[in-house]
Amino acid sequence: MSILCKFTNYSLILRMVSPHNLSTPPPHRNRNLIKRIYMTVTDRFLDFVKFDTQSDELTNMTPSTPGQMEFAHYLKGVLEGMNLEDITLDDNGYLFATLPANTDAELPVIGFIAHMDTSPDMSGRNVKPRIVTNYDGSTITLNEEKGIELSPEQFPELLDYMGQDIIVTDGTTLLGADDKAGIAEIISAVAYLQAHPEVKHGKIRIGFNPDEEIGLGAHKFNVELFGCDFAYTMDGGAIGELEYENFNAASAKITIKGRNVHPGYAKHKMINSIRVANSFITMLPRWETPEHTEGYEGFYHLVGIQGDVECTTLNYIIRDHDRARFESRKREIEHLVRKTNMEYPGCCSVEIKDQYYNMREKIEPVMHIIELAEKAMVEAGVTPHVVPIRGGTDGAQLSFKGLPCPNIFAGGHNFHGRYEFVPVQSMEKAVEVIVNICKLSV
Ligand SMILES: [Zn+2]
Repeated sequence: MSILCKFTNYSLILRMVSPHNLSTPPPHRNRNLIKRIYMTVTDRFLDFVKFDTQSDELTNMTPSTPGQMEFAHYLKGVLEGMNLEDITLDDNGYLFATLPANTDAELPVIGFIAHMDTSPDMSGRNVKPRIVTNYDGSTITLNEEKGIELSPEQFPELLDYMGQDIIVTDGTTLLGADDKAGIAEIISAVAYLQAHPEVKHGKIRIGFNPDEEIGLGAHKFNVELFGCDFAYTMDGGAIGELEYENFNAASAKITIKGRNVHPGYAKHKMINSIRVANSFITMLPRWETPEHTEGYEGFYHLVGIQGDVECTTLNYIIRDHDRARFESRKREIEHLVRKTNMEYPGCCSVEIKDQYYNMREKIEPVMHIIELAEKAMVEAGVTPHVVPIRGGTDGAQLSFKGLPCPNIFAGGHNFHGRYEFVPVQSMEKAVEVIVNICKLSV
């Protein structure tokens, strides 16, 4: 084809596609953009779970695994393909981008955040998702060969999704809906806004971060560069979930030093640190453990024990939504250490470290951002379900770094394991909720 002919065709296409806008990008670029815009949230999700982005708390790197950086580069390409602005990917794997405002009104800058990593608890390599269409309420065979089943007897919440389309695993890996569903939803919402310029909105920022699952997602998050008035993490569970309260959290490492003597000659001499540790454990309230608590009830959780006669260490985590009760739990541990030392002078020591705090105190002064999310859900036909998080989120840490950041459902269930699933319709509603938040803030 001659250059002239090419040129003629090009102008013809320009006139046909967009008679009013001569700055329309060249046709091939435009086609790519259109493809990006009209991909469904499910297409995107199925594309993203191909990446193995399991994080690893032992590598001491950011991101903790190379797969996350690979995924970040891929996502960067996706965002570039959508012609978003201010796209940055830093060395730590934090990917930011902007959808510019399409109105001159003075509006808050709103951020949407999701994490790229999957849990270290189970492999996310070679995920083979399957869509169970029009779910009929029966047991889903995940893996015939290995006899792995997802049944409503074990997971009654499945029955909430009868008639819907559920994405499941093949039983050998996790699915990665936590939190690739969140990423797919954010990108789909942005694509929707691009395709619907009649929907007015302010400046929207999106942020994808590594290493949430190992508690380091917010660590190197550059809140200043992100530049938002407030943001939402799309990292909650079932449809309707909206969270702005989480645990106050601390770790306590208790070290007990014993005295080892030949057991045949140990009378009145030996101190067996394992036995001292055992009595320490039994002094803590027996029912205040994860397996006996729910809702707003806090706990002491013994996560690890290592020891011999000479020395035993106990690793606890302490959790409570209420700040005063949280502080008193820490004091109780210190009290028990003193009590143990009265019986065995100098044998017991403790190191307590605060890990994160309940974001509620940072959200309460800006409750309108919760009301905005609730209204966005109601307009999407979703009943908001405000629940206290029995854990932490990136949003909690970001809130304390100056970016108020509640958590909204991404739609998945049974995170971190082979039974993870996400209903397609829940993801679609999450997209609608994001769009509504943007719309309603005008
Ligand atoms: Zn998550």
